[in-house]
Amino acid sequence: MKSKLSFFTLFTVFFIGSISAQKKIIKTDAEWKKILTPAQYQVLRKAGTEPAFSGKYDHFYKKGTYYCAACNTPLFTSKSKFDSGSGWPSFDNHIGNNVGFHEDDKYGITRTEIICNICDGHLGHMFMDGPKKTTGKRYCVNSLALKFKKSQ
Ligand SMILES: [Zn+2]
Repeated sequence: MKSKLSFFTLFTVFFIGSISAQKKIIKTDAEWKKILTPAQYQVLRKAGTEPAFSGKYDHFYKKGTYYCAACNTPLFTSKSKFDSGSGWPSFDNHIGNNVGFHEDDKYGITRTEIICNICDGHLGHMFMDGPKKTTGKRYCVNSLALKFKKSQ
């Protein structure tokens, strides 16, 4: 009985620990405007899309990690990046639970919007026409929503 109880305590501690690690970052529009450029604000907070082939990470293949440009949460690694030819940085997977998904019915078509799970910033969309030999998914992400840091 005693060991069951301590296991439960341990589980609770880990459970609460993992929730606090996923703590949301909530800011007002005015606060976001202070830390983002107008172009970043348009994409991350207003679900805008940068023009195809305009982003700095479209044809960019250095080894490292891509973070949310708004809240610095690690979202994608260079290992999952591939050239989709779409004009936007494309990945076939994301890091942990840091990317969220929801249905987007804008423009009369149903797409899967991808967001940063920590600050709810808009990243882009996810499509099911990615590389078949890995996940089959294509995370189509705006460069403006990302910040790259190369691996040490
Ligand atoms: Zn974020």
